[in-house]
Amino acid sequence: MAKKQVKRAKTKKAAPAARRASAARRPAAAARRSARPSASAKRGGASARTAKAKAGKYVYFFGNGKADGDRTMRDLLGGKGANLAEMTNAGLPVPPGFTITTAACNLWYANNGRLPAEIEREMEENVRKLEKLAGAQFGSVTNPLLVSVRSGAKFSMPGMMDTILNLGLNDQAVEGLKARTNNGRFAYDSYRRFIQMYGSVVLEIPKERFEHEFEAVKAERGAKTDTDLDEEGLRQVVERFKGVVLAETGKEFPQDPFVQLRGARDAVFRSWNNERAKTYRRLYEIPDHIGTAVNVQLMVFGNTGDRSATGVGFTRNPATGANEFFGEFLVNAQGEDVVAGIRTPQPIAELEKVMPKAYRELRQITKRLERHYRDIQDFEFTIQDEKLYMLQTRNGKRTGYAAVVIATDFVKEKLRTPREALLLVEPAALSQLLAPVFDPKEWAKLPVATRGLPASPGAASGQVVFTADEAVAWSQQGRKVLLVRKETVPDDIHGMEVAEGVLTATGGMTSHAAVVGRQMGKPSVVGAGEIQVNERERYFTVNGRTVREGDWVSFDGLTGEVKIGQVATNPSEILQVVSGRMKPEESDIYRRFNQLLTWADRERKLEIRANADMPDQAALAYAFGAKGIGLCRTEHMFFGEGRIEKVQRMILADNEADRRTALAELLPLQRDDFYGVFKAMKGQPVTIRMIDPPLHEFLPKREELMVEIARMEATGRTGPELEEKKRLLARVEQLHEFNPMLGHRGVRLGITYPEITEMQARAIFEATAQLVKEGIKVVPEVMIPLVGVVRELRDQKAIVDRVAQEVMKEKGVRFKYLVGTMIEVPRGAITADEIAKEAQFFSFGTNDLTQLTFGYSRDDVGKFLAIYQERKILERDPFQSIDTTGVGQLVEMAVERGRKTRPDIKLGVCGEHGGDPSSIHFFHKAGLDYVSASPYRVPVARLAAAHAALSVKVGD
Ligand code: ADP
Ligand code: MG
Ligand code: MG
Repeated sequence: MAKKQVKRAKTKKAAPAARRASAARRPAAAARRSARPSASAKRGGASARTAKAKAGKYVYFFGNGKADGDRTMRDLLGGKGANLAEMTNAGLPVPPGFTITTAACNLWYANNGRLPAEIEREMEENVRKLEKLAGAQFGSVTNPLLVSVRSGAKFSMPGMMDTILNLGLNDQAVEGLKARTNNGRFAYDSYRRFIQMYGSVVLEIPKERFEHEFEAVKAERGAKTDTDLDEEGLRQVVERFKGVVLAETGKEFPQDPFVQLRGARDAVFRSWNNERAKTYRRLYEIPDHIGTAVNVQLMVFGNTGDRSATGVGFTRNPATGANEFFGEFLVNAQGEDVVAGIRTPQPIAELEKVMPKAYRELRQITKRLERHYRDIQDFEFTIQDEKLYMLQTRNGKRTGYAAVVIATDFVKEKLRTPREALLLVEPAALSQLLAPVFDPKEWAKLPVATRGLPASPGAASGQVVFTADEAVAWSQQGRKVLLVRKETVPDDIHGMEVAEGVLTATGGMTSHAAVVGRQMGKPSVVGAGEIQVNERERYFTVNGRTVREGDWVSFDGLTGEVKIGQVATNPSEILQVVSGRMKPEESDIYRRFNQLLTWADRERKLEIRANADMPDQAALAYAFGAKGIGLCRTEHMFFGEGRIEKVQRMILADNEADRRTALAELLPLQRDDFYGVFKAMKGQPVTIRMIDPPLHEFLPKREELMVEIARMEATGRTGPELEEKKRLLARVEQLHEFNPMLGHRGVRLGITYPEITEMQARAIFEATAQLVKEGIKVVPEVMIPLVGVVRELRDQKAIVDRVAQEVMKEKGVRFKYLVGTMIEVPRGAITADEIAKEAQFFSFGTNDLTQLTFGYSRDDVGKFLAIYQERKILERDPFQSIDTTGVGQLVEMAVERGRKTRPDIKLGVCGEHGGDPSSIHFFHKAGLDYVSASPYRVPVARLAAAHAALSVKVGD
């Protein structure tokens, strides 16, 4: 016991320091939140900001149709307290009580776990007021006042903090309760519940100690379920529980209700800093410093017998959005029984049969609540002897699918304007609507084998293969495959394309596998570190299990969970419509989705483009509403069927003449691709990036070649094939670089091999000329990557301009085009004023810009990022959400300097950040013209840009 007290004293002492520290480094989202006027009330200063809040007032009463607070006071009263006040004011049947404010919680922490005497007095006055209203007294033998003590922070954290019921019971009051209700069983059931909850939550006695005693009494008396115990049995349980308290704490169970109340209140304050609450706040970016309120409320009882019940519900289905009453209840039960799973609750529809009057009233009230809050409500209720009481209501959490259905329904029902409806849908949640889905029941049947980073949402189930070629071969036989790789490189793309999903052992959220996976809308889990892949022998191990080629594996790209076995999936309906396999009229969810995005288009200022490399991707992007291509990566075209050999021949050439011959073979292929992309975009702008990656990425790996050569020599296979391999190896070694990402790539390639730029420019302009002849308007935007020095751009621009003139003359047509650059090297951003002299547009390559500004290789960042985030060195993955303070400053600087030189310069973003909602907010504020995202992120970007324009912070 002594030990426990020391421990507790320590946590109390440590708490204020920890809180100060956490306030200083609170998450960006938190900072954003508290920067908003409605969210700004915090720590002490809270009271001044809301009209009803009063200086020096720490306890707010509610009851008898009147409350001191209302729904606008969530900062001070917490969500639960504010809504209890609001419901009371609306005349709903809410048991009376009072709320101790978050400001009091903060004072409590600041004073080492004590409240100033004035606040203690204020609380006592409110207890007296409650006694009067309820006609009951604390500790009374005839009519005892019983209350619940409930946590409630500004942002709902369901089940994260502690609640205590039936407080006020002691050895005398329990007799009073029995006398008042004429129900001894009920009185002792309530008492034993109270000792159990108070013992574990306030006195920190392990729950099992009580459960053990409870089971023992049940066994002795031959009771199968809790409800089988009669009054006598429950009296025994109470005695044993009191024994547990004495043994564990060395003190009798507290009999004074005020001692009980202060203990429970402080335990709720303390629970703000328990591990699960802290974890929850981290996950949902809720600030650590805002504290919780405490609600003390008159008890009503769902456990008085078969005419009583307790339950929870939603005004609409939170999974599907369907306008149907949704919930569960238990007869003769109390509090947590429904969610704790001790007994299986009944669907709420059954309530209509057992307690029709209460059910009707519940429907009426919850409908009213939904109209009042103008959002789907998640409510808690208790029925005591057929009389209904409302205990809680809040805006319900819902899936992305449900969010879209509900938002569009609300507009139809005239509950919300389209503009408001937009704000009811989290942009990121839209991607859930595009992903194939598991049957949730089937999914739940398998255990989780391991977890990785949820890189690209969607359900994937397939037979494991370990190489891209195998993936193609197997899928040609009509099999569903899952590509499992140690890591994924761009030339796996053909394998990724046919796979149901991609699972890798290494890599971060912006690793190639993740980027490409998202671009394809391919479910991907990356960086699943517990997986050991043996690609050669074709198996992987995970936590002692071995999975071989051909075995079934399934994963959820939204959660990162990986399971061994097969689970059936369905493709999303929206994708079927967008790809033309289903008619819009046939899909309700598509029409809603489209409706919502049309509303979004009316609000947003940013244009949305897509990153797409091939005609089919461009067509998809167009169907998703992209107004142009912001990034067409020409090198991705090089990996297509039968092309890589030609590219290799070009690279292997050791003189310009040979290289030109090889390039001449690539020219028609690239021209056809560009033709297809331009055509798919129907006149929308298309930005084409000249070749970017280091050349060796197109060649076989050095080690693989060495092994092959050794094998051929050992088996005596000589001749031209061996010679060819040796030549290849020599060239690979020649091209070897220590740091290829900082090496011979981007504009540097174009400068050293101008004939590559020449060929690509020619392919672009010949395709343009062709389309212009066909009467289709095209204005290609030629983009030179990785420029840090204006002269680099000048050099390449000269080539592009010359080729344009040549093509115009040869084809006898005139066309417009732009030449611009990517801003992705910090020097490029810093000297943007000079670069703008040559560049007609800038496209921020925020992936490389982040990589080069931080000096983190984005393919290796996975090794330390998690630790950085855990220690709060970095709040977020800067490759996912733009680092507004550092990288963002470079963007702002380049915008300002670029516009100074060239006021009409076109400005966009083509990094992965272009599809990230909080980055989109930043780009909106920075005044860019457009963002470009992978085709599957286009809907998310459209909605996020509308949110940005409506100036609502992400995640709020
Ligand atoms: P949580 O935030 O974890 O949902 P609550 O404070 O809502 O915790 O309490 C959990 C449950 O306890 C409620 O859903 C309700 O069933 C029960 N409860 C709380 N206060 C009362 C009360 N005054 N009378 C009856 N039941 C109550
Ligand atoms: Mg609750
Ligand atoms: Mg780049």
